[in-house]
Amino acid sequence: MAQKILLKDIDVPGIETFDVFRKQGGYSAVEKVLKTMSPEDVVEEVKKSGLRGRGGAGFPTGMKWSFLAKPEGVPRYLVCNADESEPGTFKDRYLMTKLPHVLIEGMIVASYALGANTSYIYVRGEMMPQIRILEKAIAEAKAAGFLGENILGSGYDLEIYVQPGGGAYICGEETALLESLEGKRGNPRIKPPFPAIAGLYGCPTVVNNVESIAATSWIVLNGGDEYAKIGIGRSTGTKLISASGNINKPGVYEIELGLPVEEFIYSDEYCGGIANGKRLKAVVAGGSSVPILPANLILRTVNGEPRLMSYESLADGGFASGTMLGSGGFIVMDEDACIVRNTWNFSRFYHHESCGQCSPCREGTGWMEKILHRIEYGHGKMSDIDLLWDVQRKIEGNTICPLGDAAAWPVASAIRHFRDEFEWHVNEPKAAMEGNYGLAHY
Ligand code: SF4
Repeated sequence: MAQKILLKDIDVPGIETFDVFRKQGGYSAVEKVLKTMSPEDVVEEVKKSGLRGRGGAGFPTGMKWSFLAKPEGVPRYLVCNADESEPGTFKDRYLMTKLPHVLIEGMIVASYALGANTSYIYVRGEMMPQIRILEKAIAEAKAAGFLGENILGSGYDLEIYVQPGGGAYICGEETALLESLEGKRGNPRIKPPFPAIAGLYGCPTVVNNVESIAATSWIVLNGGDEYAKIGIGRSTGTKLISASGNINKPGVYEIELGLPVEEFIYSDEYCGGIANGKRLKAVVAGGSSVPILPANLILRTVNGEPRLMSYESLADGGFASGTMLGSGGFIVMDEDACIVRNTWNFSRFYHHESCGQCSPCREGTGWMEKILHRIEYGHGKMSDIDLLWDVQRKIEGNTICPLGDAAAWPVASAIRHFRDEFEWHVNEPKAAMEGNYGLAHY
């Protein structure tokens, strides 16, 4: 049985309440850090753990914390990014729903490490049930003396506020999130300056994902070295994966990084295999913003090595034959899935969610959506496939924030690995319109 860190108490009845969570040892990490550790000690343990940002970018959390500027007399902030909106990603929502105190405990540990006395959890606006759950958990923790002034007699003060999000996917980009938190339209900022220098209200700020913050309690209780022993190489610890699509057991799983992809898809402990006995066609391994890989490349690297659920193994081969762990939104497509239709669906999403600040993203996502729609509905020309390739190339790397890249990569990989399926749509428009998808490959 794989090691569980975040979800270890998921089956304990009433674990969402303070009393039950506390009986299970909850808030021991807060007691430990406030009574026995300096903020610098906490940062050091998180650095040693090798924990990497679980929102998608995978940047080392301890290093991010150590970049935080500390000018005299200027407040510092911790902002938890709970604006989870990536298609196929629902692990933060699950954690906040089932185990809200795991996040609140981690927020206190991380805020203490950063010297923040006011911290925010920015929750996707549509997640009203989770907002209420978190507000209740904060009230419970405060009533028990784990929040507020002079926590546990340590002299450390902390208030945590829950902020409903602005209703746009782009508000999950850290600088857009900060703009939105300040009450403005959620447009990404040009970096530098980075939030660690000038973040919320121009003050030094760390923005971390829900899962990253939640992991810090276990790290300080057990030590960064122990955390680093779990996983593989520079992919340390565990990761929540939201698995969806054509599988027998969709859901949220906590895996040890380094698990073979094949085992994740086919074992009964996780996805339980492809639904209805069908064959695997493709996987989007890390939320909709990463390259789509065909079955042969998601199960094995080009060198024939088993592909692992880790930052490095999934990226093996670069974008020619690899992908990314991303947010851990693992979307499985069976032999009947239409790659053109799925790619169009992704493009439609990114076009809708583009904030419009930069032309390549604003115009390019619209072009991609229109071309893909044309091909999908039987009106495409062969030259459209090359035009589509050209448009995505002009977006990648030419925008203010990563949404442009996120929109381009699925399109590029779909053409790279499934070009014959695009050509089939052009050559067989009637069949394409009738929905006989995916025949090019099977
Ligand atoms: Fe806005 Fe897109 Fe530019 Fe990001 S890449 S700033 S979402 S227009």
